[in-house]
Amino acid sequence: MEPGCIAVDSTVGNGIDTLFLARLAGPLGMVHGFDIQQAALDSARDRLRRENAPDCVRLHLAGHESMCETLPREVLGQVRAVMFNFGYLPGSDGSVITRPETSCAAVDAAISVLAPGGLITMVLYTGHPGGAEEADALEAHCAGLSTETAWVMRSVLLNHRNAQTRVLLVEKR
Ligand code: SAH
Repeated sequence: MEPGCIAVDSTVGNGIDTLFLARLAGPLGMVHGFDIQQAALDSARDRLRRENAPDCVRLHLAGHESMCETLPREVLGQVRAVMFNFGYLPGSDGSVITRPETSCAAVDAAISVLAPGGLITMVLYTGHPGGAEEADALEAHCAGLSTETAWVMRSVLLNHRNAQTRVLLVEKR
């Protein structure tokens, strides 16, 4: 990601990835963040302010599956990177989690908003109830993508909490 480019944080949470993307995009770039919990957006906003993030972030209280409708029209097809960090908001009671149906729909939406050569990163957790099912559904969904649309890679963190964390990387063609 070069300065001035456009990125999306699909699961803002406490804003760690939003801040990372904002620093890469810089003041001439743009980062759009999505979360369905106001508490997450408030926490992320605090972090961005505390850390003097560049003024390039727009936070949306909306599901990532609505990305195509929510992003400004001029952004569609111009996005360099979309990050997903699935599961629940760290520090919350864990009752709100990402879910297979909306997560898979959001990956399709992410592919359609990316520029050719753009990347999607997904971190999948299997340690909470519903997590393994979601990870399996996302892997099956991504494995079914045509190679004319995207390349998909998977890695597993072997030395992290009994290998409960998996990573998928999608490169749009
Ligand atoms: N990257 C974050 C952690 C994300 S946790 C950090 O650095 O802190 C996952 C987040 O996904 C939670 O905050 C949860 O509210 C959010 N979420 C759940 N379903 C969602 C959906 N359909 N669209 C967008 N965000 C969703």
